[in-house]
Amino acid sequence: MAFSSSISSSSSYSLSSNTLPRDVNTKKICPSTLSVLQRSPVCKMGFISRCRRRGSSAFNIFASVADVSLDKSVEKAQLPKGDTWSIHKFGGTCVGTSQRIRNVAEIIINDDSERKLVVVSAMSKVTDMMYDLIYKAQSRDESYISALDAVLEKHRVTALDLLDGDDLASFLSRLHLDINNLKAMLRAIFIAGHATESFTDFVVGHGELWSAQILSSVIRKNGMDCNWMDTRDVLIVNPSGSNQVDPDYLESGKRLEKWFSCNPSKTIIATGFIASTPQKIPTTLKRDGSDFSAAIMGALFRARQVTIWTDVDGVYSADPRKVSEAVILRTLSYQEAWEMSYFGANVLHPRTIIPVMQYDIPIVIRNIFNLSAPGTKICRSSVDEVDNGLTSSVKGFATIDNLALVNVEGTGMAGVPGTASAIFGAVKDVGANVIMISQASSEHSVCFAVPEKEVKAVAEALQSKFRQALDAGRLSQVAVIPNCSILATVGQKMASTPGVSATVFSALAKANINVRAIAQGCSEYNITVVVKREDCVRALRAVHSRFYLSRTTIAMGIIGPGLIGATLLDQLRDQAAVLKEKFNIDLRVMGITGSRTMLLSDMGIDLSRWRELQKEKEEVADLEKFVQHVHGNHFIPNTVLVDCTADSNVASHYYDWLRRGVHVITPNKKANSGPLDQYLKLRALQRQSYTHYFYEATVGAGLPIISTLHGLLETGDKILRIEGIFSGTMSYIFNNFIGTRSFSEVVTGAKEAGYTEPDPRDDLSGTDVARKVIILARESGLKLELSDIPVRSLVPEPLKASASAEEFLQQLPQFDQDLAKRRKDAEDAGEVLRYVGVVDVANQKGTVELGRYKKDHPFAQLSGSDNIIAFTTERYKEQPLIVRGPGAGAQVTAGGIFCDILRLASYLGAPS
Ligand code: ADP
Ligand code: ASP
Ligand code: MG
Repeated sequence: MAFSSSISSSSSYSLSSNTLPRDVNTKKICPSTLSVLQRSPVCKMGFISRCRRRGSSAFNIFASVADVSLDKSVEKAQLPKGDTWSIHKFGGTCVGTSQRIRNVAEIIINDDSERKLVVVSAMSKVTDMMYDLIYKAQSRDESYISALDAVLEKHRVTALDLLDGDDLASFLSRLHLDINNLKAMLRAIFIAGHATESFTDFVVGHGELWSAQILSSVIRKNGMDCNWMDTRDVLIVNPSGSNQVDPDYLESGKRLEKWFSCNPSKTIIATGFIASTPQKIPTTLKRDGSDFSAAIMGALFRARQVTIWTDVDGVYSADPRKVSEAVILRTLSYQEAWEMSYFGANVLHPRTIIPVMQYDIPIVIRNIFNLSAPGTKICRSSVDEVDNGLTSSVKGFATIDNLALVNVEGTGMAGVPGTASAIFGAVKDVGANVIMISQASSEHSVCFAVPEKEVKAVAEALQSKFRQALDAGRLSQVAVIPNCSILATVGQKMASTPGVSATVFSALAKANINVRAIAQGCSEYNITVVVKREDCVRALRAVHSRFYLSRTTIAMGIIGPGLIGATLLDQLRDQAAVLKEKFNIDLRVMGITGSRTMLLSDMGIDLSRWRELQKEKEEVADLEKFVQHVHGNHFIPNTVLVDCTADSNVASHYYDWLRRGVHVITPNKKANSGPLDQYLKLRALQRQSYTHYFYEATVGAGLPIISTLHGLLETGDKILRIEGIFSGTMSYIFNNFIGTRSFSEVVTGAKEAGYTEPDPRDDLSGTDVARKVIILARESGLKLELSDIPVRSLVPEPLKASASAEEFLQQLPQFDQDLAKRRKDAEDAGEVLRYVGVVDVANQKGTVELGRYKKDHPFAQLSGSDNIIAFTTERYKEQPLIVRGPGAGAQVTAGGIFCDILRLASYLGAPS
């Protein structure tokens, strides 16, 4: 045979797996065999002399298929292009172990397509290992030798597991040859301290050579005939810009026909990732390029379909490692898939779409580990996912990290033709890749994003190109903003749907994320925003949840699981499912903290077991860690902290939490009734931001008091006076102090019935009512301190010092007379005593007093522990607006907090 002599003449150096396709059908050695054999860069560097000694020419060794005329004896088979071909591509994880390789073989054998071409990646991690060999060798790190042994071992063990007999022997002998060649080459790199791009590409491509050979042997072992293809013999690509290649379809097509004529086969196992340059030098399609290989093959064969098998169910609406709630997209258009992959969805190599779209060949992404999942189909026009307007117009989100923004700014740029071209000319000169550009129409500044590692060179090139303009002040600066990321929102129908960008930006604003730059092309397939690197995942989750999650998924942290906190947790438990199903509100408690211990969860605490979980999994309480966890550590963009304590230390953190974009809801009165300046600061911050602070339950528990007041104020009513019975305890006491029992007996009875604080002096002192008065006064615009409120305490002066509640109650009867007289006087006048708080807006003051009210006054009609509040306003002057109802107790207070949580959800966009 014509080629055998030339092969044997050089075989000792490069007769390796990549050089000797075993052609079971023809039992002939094809020209392609020779070509790869000949172009091993090992021969190119220093080994040439040995090649020569064997009679091979240093230049000839780059001969290729096209250079070698075919043996006349080879019967040429015509390549039958068209939809009898089905292309499969198996990613690294699909062939990561011997068992997985068996599964792949099974899938191929079970595919009933008439003809199939299977593109295979290197076993998982192998390409990384190969790059690491290069890195080590050129860093003169001797451990490249043991690292190479590990590569050998991995493939040896896999082959031993899968193959036997001749197949095993021939694979192992080729593997050893390859490894020896690589060892020699890496030694040369080690000595030179440098590896060229083509050396690197040659080395790293071996993973695919080995996996393709193993797989084809396994398939043959299972009784299906097949050939394996070293795609360096077929695919010819030209470098195009930074880290990219363009296929030469014409040349590759010719080579494919030739290859096929020597290897006619209905099943072909082809290497992904690798190709050759027109000069026959081995190259690659760059990282993750096997998808691209499969798509090019799809186009060359005009195949019916390209199926890309990977380790996820398809293309998700966002990277599932970052957004655990991402959903599988059933279909994507070519453009959508391109944009998703360009902007970082590495489930697909960005260039994969280009070859197939011109022939309308669909790509299907499927999960090898979940064959029942239908996967994602990428074709000309996609089908709407959820037909509810915005969701169907936005398909997915993707991010690119490690970018820097460059901002070229100056008044001298406006209207000067050629500025943009000069800027991007300079960028091109340093070979940097511009990922997005944004220019305001004023032409005052041009801003663009480049990979962080390229920004130094770009900035220097711009500084030097615009030296004169900078010196003359026509340009004010070339600024670099490092540590940026891009977040892209992708969807073909965004162009025709109003409101998409508004939704994106409002989601970002609500998550308190600052946008550094924006770009939206005319095609409107995507909206691109640049954010700070550290905000990127949160930004992704925020926009994703806005379009895909229940609009209002809220991460909650409950502080203080005492009586009220525990009741709230139980209410949340009982209502969560209904809220989610009927109202699209998804509330997740990510943490519960007391003063000593806390319970944290990544996905949300199972509220049916929160008490048990607290015992099983509690850790030492740490408020900062708690907040960090609830706010930062998960996929939910909205966070609310619910402070169910009465602690002023917890309240002192609200400002910081709001500043960090955390919403705060509380029944704790301490913040709003504490020092005035702190209160004002808190409110000012809340008004400036998109962060909410709700505290309805600080006054009247679940009764709508604060919200009623807000409603009046916001609609322009003028508050004249607010007067009310704000304490459930005091309400109970005076509702029962009707002359049948002494005051002390009524108080003791109230304590026994559980209506008072453990020490009734806390109620009788009036401080609690004073705090409510100050809260309402401040809401009404009065700038008062707690100390400005005169309080009529019902704790007799001498008993303030009583050591305990019991002692106090024992001594209280000594002071019954005073109140008995007051009650009697009132009764004689047809009145009752009521313990009230008053906000006198007209006179800018507040008081807590024991007032007398006519028996027909609404305050006199009260029963039990009800609260009642009367708003006298410009509109409600004749008849005050009255809110009345139970104003104390765990159930109603927790209910009030729950109401605030739902209010927050509706502010965040929950349907009303
Ligand atoms: P393979 O080795 O099969 O080519 P890759 O690791 O290159 O697999 O790509 C699959 C991975 O891409 C998934 O495991 C997933 O983590 C990641 N990925 C990133 N973005 C997306 C997305 N939007 N949809 C699906 N997977 C994604
Ligand atoms: N094995 C190559 C890489 O890891 C190509 C691929 O798997 O797509 O980059
Ligand atoms: Mg991949």
